[in-house]
Amino acid sequence: MKYWLFFSAKIVTAVALFAGIWLTMEALLPDPVMFGGVKLRRFGQDLTWTTAIFGYFLAGAGTLYVIVLDQRYRCRTCLRRLRMPVNSGAWDQMLRIGTPQVEYICPFGHGTLNVKLVHFAGREGDDWREHDDNIWRELESLSGNGRK
Ligand SMILES: [Zn+2]
Repeated sequence: MKYWLFFSAKIVTAVALFAGIWLTMEALLPDPVMFGGVKLRRFGQDLTWTTAIFGYFLAGAGTLYVIVLDQRYRCRTCLRRLRMPVNSGAWDQMLRIGTPQVEYICPFGHGTLNVKLVHFAGREGDDWREHDDNIWRELESLSGNGRK
């Protein structure tokens, strides 16, 4: 829930920012001129406005991309950036070792994000696995039955 609230807050902030930029553009840029008794439209007929709208669109698309990319690599529990990327698999020995993938972990141990680098059947989503609250129990289960 906190994860999606943070994402929504970033989107709302970006929308407010770009609404302000649009209002600033309307206040600062001159209106399109009258040409032959016809007022030219902003987009496609007035070079200043057309250039500004292209720049506005590129900045908006770039901001949305950065927001989604930043959200993808955040912990679903504490919202911190995921760290310590570990590569596994191999490009040249996929069938023997496994497909290439990168695994990120939350610095506080809340979970692990597994990002697949090869998508055979369309876009496969990332695999987020939450860890148990007690990481020592998980470590002991990995060490096997040697200490009983
Ligand atoms: Zn975390």
